[in-house]
Amino acid sequence: MDCFRRLRLWFRWSVAVVFVSLCFLTGLPDASAGDADPAYRSCVEKCEISGCVGDNCFQHCEFSLDGLPVDGPWYMQEPLYLKWKQWDCHSDCRYHCMLAREEERQKLGGQPIKYHGKWPFFRVYGIQEPVSVAFSVLNLAMHFHGWISFFILVYYKLPLRENRTTYYEYTGLWHIYSILAMNSCFWSVVFHSRDVEWTEKLDYSSTAALVGYSLILAVLRTLNVRDEAARVMGAAPIFSFVATHILYLNFYDLSYGWNTKVCITMAVAQLLIWAIWASITCHPSRWKLRAVVVVRLLSILLKVYDFPPYLGYIDAHAIWHATTIPVTYLWWSFVRNDAEFRTSLLVKKVK
Ligand SMILES: [Zn+2]
Repeated sequence: MDCFRRLRLWFRWSVAVVFVSLCFLTGLPDASAGDADPAYRSCVEKCEISGCVGDNCFQHCEFSLDGLPVDGPWYMQEPLYLKWKQWDCHSDCRYHCMLAREEERQKLGGQPIKYHGKWPFFRVYGIQEPVSVAFSVLNLAMHFHGWISFFILVYYKLPLRENRTTYYEYTGLWHIYSILAMNSCFWSVVFHSRDVEWTEKLDYSSTAALVGYSLILAVLRTLNVRDEAARVMGAAPIFSFVATHILYLNFYDLSYGWNTKVCITMAVAQLLIWAIWASITCHPSRWKLRAVVVVRLLSILLKVYDFPPYLGYIDAHAIWHATTIPVTYLWWSFVRNDAEFRTSLLVKKVK
């Protein structure tokens, strides 16, 4: 198949994927049925007074929000490690009322529903979404491995210029990418361990920063922009958009729905750029790029098709985190191949 036909085919597919994604995105629900349920609300109200749900009573309800005992000597403080996790009477009551309501609903044959924008998950040692945490840790490890092996390759295995810099022109950009990717994984671990406002802000902000930067990188690499001034010019509009979006999330409205829409749009744009490039380039590792694009586009559907957690642990978002692990491995493998490919071309030119 010639390049032009392939490009047309890719373009058609991309338009179809974007169209389908946008159709689903506009229908993303924002409200939760669980916390609107009067039985759940009265359970939380009663629990905050009595400190118990059924026979289950909570240690946190003996302390006020600032960690001081409700009735007891002033010097008795709640242990610091519990305060840090911010589990308090209110959140304990919400959690146990949710479990109680879900049990009742299940007995009547009902499906799980969301509470305060989240599916009902079982906690493990105070960790809210243990499966997402585990996959985020693995993804962090994958990025670290990818970055280290890239570092060793460009600085120790491939030839260097006389001034000890690499021939590969994108080394610095991939270093920044690795920092943003690992930062995003780290805050994902923290956020899925404990969902409070500050962990949510940091998770959303670092994801937006990573997705925005990945889009910049896609533009610069596929168009082969090597001049510093042109790079700054190309990056500036995306950079200012992402900076505004992060400020909006942190200081105006921390909206999950809006952030998801913005991140998916940028991610799809980035994937389309790589997809078009992969279909016309003669890069020796283009198949890796194509595989990454296909898996990432498919995994975006998991962000859109949000199903309840299986056995109370594995939901669509956790599976999405799982798909990122092999993709990250393949992605860094492509980056290393790209460094080898560009370096060999440039070395030949110098000779
Ligand atoms: Zn996540």
